[in-house]
Amino acid sequence: MTHIPFLDLLANYDECRQEIDEAYHRVMNSGKWILGPELEQFEAEYAAYCGTRHCIGVGNGLDALYLALKALQIGPGDEVIVPAHTFIATWLAISRTGATPVPVEPYADTFMPDANRIESCITPRTRAVIAVHLYGSIAGIEEITDLCITHNIPLIEDAAQAHGAQSSRARAGNHGIMGCFSFYPSKNLGACGDGGAIVTNDPDMDRTLRTLRNYGSCTRYQHDIEGINSRLDELQAAMLRVQLPLLDMRNERRRILAEQYIECLRDIPGLHLPLQGTRESHVWHLFVLRSTARNALQQHLQHQGCDTLIHYPRPVYRFAPFERFAPAYETRADRLTATILSLPMGPHLSVADVNHICEQLRNFHHPRAVME
Ligand SMILES: *Cc1c(COP(=O)(O)O)cnc(C)c1O
Repeated sequence: MTHIPFLDLLANYDECRQEIDEAYHRVMNSGKWILGPELEQFEAEYAAYCGTRHCIGVGNGLDALYLALKALQIGPGDEVIVPAHTFIATWLAISRTGATPVPVEPYADTFMPDANRIESCITPRTRAVIAVHLYGSIAGIEEITDLCITHNIPLIEDAAQAHGAQSSRARAGNHGIMGCFSFYPSKNLGACGDGGAIVTNDPDMDRTLRTLRNYGSCTRYQHDIEGINSRLDELQAAMLRVQLPLLDMRNERRRILAEQYIECLRDIPGLHLPLQGTRESHVWHLFVLRSTARNALQQHLQHQGCDTLIHYPRPVYRFAPFERFAPAYETRADRLTATILSLPMGPHLSVADVNHICEQLRNFHHPRAVME
């Protein structure tokens, strides 16, 4: 039986094996493994790609978000507006500063909160809005950007799933004061270990972030602010420099696969397919559909050898660390997370793989058609 894995990181390596191996030896032989030329060059290259003035490489995506909030001096007593439906890291970055996450409910079709919902969460204590480009879609960011400008509230983009996504105005990460990225290996742009970055056009933020990521120090053994240790290391920067030039092509492959899914599945009743928006606005980190028979469908696909996952099984406030923020009633995010299912997505998939998955989905919904 065919087995279709959800993800295959070795396929990424195979595509640029020689360059990765060369980069590895280059860095190892340099003897400079932290804060060296690879990081400097990657930062310049990634800033150019995002269209921002600055890029600061850090240890991972969670640290990128945490440091962005710290650079704005957000802490206890402050409120940060954040989607109820996101990966837990977005919330953990806020709670780590001592600030209070204020959840905003998603809109079912786009999975993301719209500007009106965000506006109703603003209070005199609101110090930032974090917009998450969940699953790779940047749709709706223009309205959120304008809302934040109107209310004079800093906008931070959690673009950990949206490397290269483009709105009508700019690339992901270049709409608010800072954009945060993760280079976890499975992301659209992934390192061979942990990594992250913050992009910004603001020279003060750039200076502060460089200091914060390196023990609060710009000059060796001078510590001006209370920083942490979170640096993108030379090996990971070199791995990312090999893969950045492949990003647009890999995102394009994801778009073609997503279009194939949508084409093959659109007439199946009971399935809600993800909205595409403009082509450039979505980089399909994940292909997430909704089904009222989600659990049975997932089981069926597993029996047919198709791996699926659920991103994410519950809204963040239903997990133990954040239960104190959970409403007592069933929310929109609760209902949404009960129906979502992520199909395999990534440059490792072939047209035949997607056809196979679609066929299994069809069989689930029309079992008789197979027998006739
Ligand atoms: C992956 C991810 C993060 C965290 O990134 P790490 O590098 O794993 O710390 C944050 N937010 C979102 C939306 C993510 O998908």
